[in-house]
Amino acid sequence: MSPTLGKVYLVGAGPGDPGLMTLKGKTLLENADVVVYDALVSPPILAMISDRAEKIHAGKRRGRHSKLQEETTQLLIEKAQTHAIIVRLKGGDPFVFGRGGEEMADLIKAGIPVEVVPGITSGIAAPAYAGIPLTHRDYSSSVTFVTGHESAGKYRPQVNWQAIAQGSETIVIYMGLHNLGYIVDQLQQGGLTSQTAIALVRWGTRPEQEQLIATLATIVEQVEAQQFEAPAIAVIGSVVNLHSILRTFVGT
Ligand code: SAH
Repeated sequence: MSPTLGKVYLVGAGPGDPGLMTLKGKTLLENADVVVYDALVSPPILAMISDRAEKIHAGKRRGRHSKLQEETTQLLIEKAQTHAIIVRLKGGDPFVFGRGGEEMADLIKAGIPVEVVPGITSGIAAPAYAGIPLTHRDYSSSVTFVTGHESAGKYRPQVNWQAIAQGSETIVIYMGLHNLGYIVDQLQQGGLTSQTAIALVRWGTRPEQEQLIATLATIVEQVEAQQFEAPAIAVIGSVVNLHSILRTFVGT
């Protein structure tokens, strides 16, 4: 007789503001037996987790990325043998640069029941809280979400920055800070002018949110001068200029 398996819920925690967590996700946190969470999940969201749940910080597990991923999946499989509700809690949306798709596929392969609960991705929320409407009708008919992680090419198709410069009016970059000089250079080679506006939004939707607005010509030196650090979303395109009109509040 095989034991009844628990279910793993891949839940998006949103960008940080607890008010942006979905009701479905919150109910799961209140009823979970085990919660395995990532580094970018904000403290007020962790505070929603039931006191009786076992909380495990996946980010603290040692090893390289792939190993870490395998270990985390293995942990979820183990927990599903002995517990009913297992929440895999990820920052933003689990399927947007969060490796949720890979985790879900592995769990399905292992025969574990699994369900995804989307979250508000930081690429949408951080610009919004900085007063940047990604597709304002007067300026942009398209937006591209892209990873700027330098080793991205090892795991996924290489980003064609020049094609993105030509094909998308608004560009939203995740994990782009480390590689910003290269990205800015590639986008200009793809046809963007040095005066194109760029915003960096750090810790978007959290009380400590900060933003830096510049142009492609000046952003790299400004990041250095201000020691602007990750995690940040970069937004590139004329919609960035609307921030001065629309940005009236942070997280109220
Ligand atoms: N699944 C997440 C993204 C994970 S990749 C999502 O949907 O938001 C991690 C990157 O997301 C960070 O390097 C940063 O670029 C971005 N990020 C996550 N939370 C953020 C926040 N609150 N403010 C700004 N950027 C954030």
